[in-house]
Amino acid sequence: MRKTLIVGNWKMHLSTHEASLLAHRLNDHIEAHQDVEVVLAPSVLSLQPLSVQIDRRKFRLAAQNANEHDQGAYTGEVSFTMLHDLVHYVIIGHSERRLYFNEGLETVRDKVAACVRNKITPILCVGETHVERKAGETNQVLHDQVSTALMHLTSRDVQDMVIAYEPVWAISTFGGELAKPADVEAALKRIRLELRELYGDKVADSVRIIYGGSVDDQVAAGYLAVPGCDGLLPGSASLNYHKFSAIVAAAHRQHKQSRESA
Ligand code: PEP
Repeated sequence: MRKTLIVGNWKMHLSTHEASLLAHRLNDHIEAHQDVEVVLAPSVLSLQPLSVQIDRRKFRLAAQNANEHDQGAYTGEVSFTMLHDLVHYVIIGHSERRLYFNEGLETVRDKVAACVRNKITPILCVGETHVERKAGETNQVLHDQVSTALMHLTSRDVQDMVIAYEPVWAISTFGGELAKPADVEAALKRIRLELRELYGDKVADSVRIIYGGSVDDQVAAGYLAVPGCDGLLPGSASLNYHKFSAIVAAAHRQHKQSRESA
């Protein structure tokens, strides 16, 4: 059974001091679980101090973004090479980056390649906008985003990666409409089908596909129960330690239940 993954995206919130305080609170409220992997994605500034502070039996770190070049004259940027020692994961293709920073399919593809090249696991975010959904283009968007992002990767590169289905219309930043579990199930299936067609059964079954879009402690269990859902990517709710630790507890309960009924 795939380990459930809970990724808290802190976005551009919290000073290093506040981030340290939140990590401290989470440490008090979250127990280490064999079956649930908890990842914190603070601002790039907090990665170094948190890498020293966190209990590695409980938490891993993710960056929210990185530059596709390993080094060079790219003022203000941070590369995957620089993050290599600090993080297990980098979030790539988040809709806020695609929409606010004009990151297109090719940029996302190059970032995924740079991430893998630097031996960091990508958390690739994909998902359709409201307009694309209304036009019935969800499957086409998922196909384009997944197939382009993985274009230069081998089965071995892809097998450990994470794909987050995050419909843009469901993210709190862009309206935060709650997705129906049936819609989430259909999209996750579609993404796994893409992987099956590109890389075969073994890879398709090993990639973790998680869900994000206004997930909080009230709705987490419902999404975790969606067949094929390997975890969650909460944004706003991850800044509240009560909510985030309740989401982790829900993941643990869910995992236990499915193990018992297997
Ligand atoms: C996100 O940051 O990817 C996200 C899904 O945010 P929120 O949970 O706030 O909608």
